[in-house]
Amino acid sequence: MNETVRAPVLVTPGKIEIQSFPMPEPEPGAVLIRREMCGICGTDKHSFSGYAVQYSGTDHERSLPFPIIPGHEIVGVIAAIGPSHENLLDFSGLPLQAGDRVILGANLSCGQCYYCRHGFDYFFCANMEDYGNSLSAANSPHLFGGFADFVYALPGSYLFKVPKDLPVEIAVLTEVMSVTIGLDKAKQFSAVNNEGFRFGDTVVVQGVGPLGLCHVIKARMLGAGNIIVTDRSSLRLELALEMGADMALNVGHTSPKERIEAVREMTAGRGADIVVECAGVPEVIPEGLEILRPGGFYIESGNFSDMGDVSIKPHLLCAKNLRIIGIGGEAITAYHPSMEALLRYRQHYPLHKIVTHRYPVEEAEAAMRCSMTDDSMKVVIASSEYL
Ligand SMILES: [Zn+2]
Ligand SMILES: [Zn+2]
Repeated sequence: MNETVRAPVLVTPGKIEIQSFPMPEPEPGAVLIRREMCGICGTDKHSFSGYAVQYSGTDHERSLPFPIIPGHEIVGVIAAIGPSHENLLDFSGLPLQAGDRVILGANLSCGQCYYCRHGFDYFFCANMEDYGNSLSAANSPHLFGGFADFVYALPGSYLFKVPKDLPVEIAVLTEVMSVTIGLDKAKQFSAVNNEGFRFGDTVVVQGVGPLGLCHVIKARMLGAGNIIVTDRSSLRLELALEMGADMALNVGHTSPKERIEAVREMTAGRGADIVVECAGVPEVIPEGLEILRPGGFYIESGNFSDMGDVSIKPHLLCAKNLRIIGIGGEAITAYHPSMEALLRYRQHYPLHKIVTHRYPVEEAEAAMRCSMTDDSMKVVIASSEYL
């Protein structure tokens, strides 16, 4: 093959160039995916804005290896399968062949490190590679991000067959939905009396971009009582109300004190049982801790890139017996259940409204900028048939 593939390359923060790469032939174990749609994640926005450090404070702390092709929320069609892999299976054991629509798991784990061997979620892996993040476009075969028209899935990548009735613009939400495992985790704690996320609990979601919105939907599915959302975008707050939130507080029009009081009022003075941080900025965390009732759970999912510090009062953790759960990514076991849930609940939630903007490859930088405005929800890079 001597065709070329177009790819938006983030050469340095704030600067995307459209480059061409040779169409690769997959090596044994690898798969070439013709990307149909790729969501822009909060992490991509952070990378674009120059927050280039991830996994700070762990032994696999790293800086992004610019140039990179962003994008890890990838849905597409298998274009080619590497040789001697005729019996390719997806993560659930479903047979895969060229032409099948799949989601590519965002990360690649080594299977060999302490965390992999001990059954931790795959994002604990000490040698993790992340599509759109850790693999440099300078290295052959270059196409390691979903913004490109074709994506090279390395041997050992996780593939998930997309149910045939799940539209592409909803399937593209699978990875984000799979990051809502903080709620599942909190639910697991509820096996212990008065811990975790119990049926009927009040849940506050700080920041209702796509990740926050998926937490609203998931919290409702898992039996939340009142769901309260905060954001500065009225479009996002409106959508959150449509997806099952009960109260929306615009942070542009209310003070922290007013928001804390509004939550207390809704909870007979106690405060929220669960707060989920999906704003992706450290500044919201002190308010989230204030909003919690004694013994409440704080789920931190939004600051995946190192967004710097914020000061908190540790006394509050003791005085209120708070629990904090950090979530470093999506569970690999959550992809199929997330797709099934999106398929099943399509009739109850207007999921087709979540993708608000679609851009072609050539306009990737405009897409990135659009995704950072208050007037967008999920922005995607799409192939021509989905524009
Ligand atoms: Zn993501
Ligand atoms: Zn590992």
